[in-house]
Amino acid sequence: MSEKITCLIIGGGPAGYTAGIYASRAGLAPVIYEGMQPGGQLTITSEVENFPGYPNGESGPVIVDDIRKQALRMGAEIRSGEISEVDFSKRPFRLVVDYDKELFAETVIIATGATARWLGLESEAQYRGFGVSTCATCDGAFFKGKTVAVIGGGDTALEEAHYLSKIAGKVYLVHRRDQFRASKAMQDRIYQTANIEVVLDAIPTEVLGEKQGFSRKVTGLRIQNKKTETVTDLALDGIFVAIGVTPVTALFVGQLDLDEQGYIKTAGARPLTNVPGVFAAGDVQDPHYRQACTAAASGCKAAMEAERFLLI
Ligand code: NDP
Repeated sequence: MSEKITCLIIGGGPAGYTAGIYASRAGLAPVIYEGMQPGGQLTITSEVENFPGYPNGESGPVIVDDIRKQALRMGAEIRSGEISEVDFSKRPFRLVVDYDKELFAETVIIATGATARWLGLESEAQYRGFGVSTCATCDGAFFKGKTVAVIGGGDTALEEAHYLSKIAGKVYLVHRRDQFRASKAMQDRIYQTANIEVVLDAIPTEVLGEKQGFSRKVTGLRIQNKKTETVTDLALDGIFVAIGVTPVTALFVGQLDLDEQGYIKTAGARPLTNVPGVFAAGDVQDPHYRQACTAAASGCKAAMEAERFLLI
């Protein structure tokens, strides 16, 4: 049997839960589908110092759980389950949950976020989960006193390197250019940390490892200097890839206008997609700021737009 929903929110992160808070208060009886990784990227963020309201900083999972609790308290219904199909060609919009249950929604707020990007090396794929990771907070503890590398030159990579420097014996920070994209404050912190060695102009070309039966372990990373083309093997126990994110929009290809990187196109500062009644909030439509704080703000805007849309 199909179900009718006034405001369906896809994605449980700061954007989705904040949309839930506002939509509940507006009387839209929102239903949030949390998806595969409830909490989004904050759940894999160790220390967050720049989310307002936490003067002493707080861990990502605690912050996102606080927003979730607030959405529940306001009356949002939060369900586990993945939206597997959407049809935005007419209203009410048709959606399918877990390839099974059919829903009809008057408005939809998409807050599916973004996932970590991989280098795309064949060797990287072979050692994923056997020493190659995209999440220092999840996997860092396995490398106590060991040697690891973090790949990337943005704030995420530098934060991961700093976090790992407190656990690992040594951290290489491997970046493909000679300048970091990360904030000056983060760069200063890295250069002041004794057990972090910065390796610049370094293109990772192969993850090195050993295979024994079903078991595999990382033993190093082959890098090539971009300018001199010299090849070096770093001896390592683990590798953390922190080279940015990809928006989670595969479900919306052919349904909504996406940009060339796959982000949902929205109308300037407003979270309107090209389909009236479908809104996009958070990292799924934001290649620029990608902060928990800006995601929450756009969730708020999307819910206000949904309310306005339903009144027309
Ligand atoms: P970014 O896009 O900022 O950085 C990605 C990094 O990975 C770049 O240095 C890039 O190199 C490198 N890279 C990309 N592709 C490859 C590749 N194939 N091989 C090797 N290196 C590669 O992503 P982040 O996740 O670091 O940050 C995303 C956003 O979130 C940013 O706006 C950032 O400021 C923000 N952020 C803020 C934080 C905070 O305020 N506390 C914490 C974490 C993130 P190149 O520089 O050469 O392009």
